[in-house]
Amino acid sequence: MDNMQLQRWVEHISMQYFHTPFLHQATFNSRLRTTGGRYFLTTHNIEISKKYYDTFSREEVEAVIKHELCHYHLHLRKKGYRHRDKDFKDLLQQVGGARYCKPIKEDKPLYKYEIRCTQCGQKGLRKRRIDLQKYRCAKCGGKLTLQTLSFDN
Ligand SMILES: [Zn+2]
Ligand SMILES: [Zn+2]
Repeated sequence: MDNMQLQRWVEHISMQYFHTPFLHQATFNSRLRTTGGRYFLTTHNIEISKKYYDTFSREEVEAVIKHELCHYHLHLRKKGYRHRDKDFKDLLQQVGGARYCKPIKEDKPLYKYEIRCTQCGQKGLRKRRIDLQKYRCAKCGGKLTLQTLSFDN
């Protein structure tokens, strides 16, 4: 399965179970190894672990996609999209999503932050927050901004 097929699969699940179209991007991430999927608050995109897809059954991957789509649809509707929220728990149960993503195996920590140069647009990934006062773009010396990529799985 490639990214195009994954995209169509996610769109299909979104219509079938949530009755609302998925209008953003779903892609495989081959570096994502500790969890089955991720939802990005800033871009509204979804990533599915390639390793997870290769390891588990289609049903299990579908349950992860539903889990990420619960974050997605609730977040866009400005409802409780976090794991602890009632909205999230209710919707998850309704569509039969995975309550959590099975950890595949512990690996290196994931990149949680993206830094971006406000001048040249150069991007980079960081595991920890950096002090924006101290650091400048390595390429052009411009000011950097920092974004949190994902809040959880
Ligand atoms: Zn720059
Ligand atoms: Zn989650």
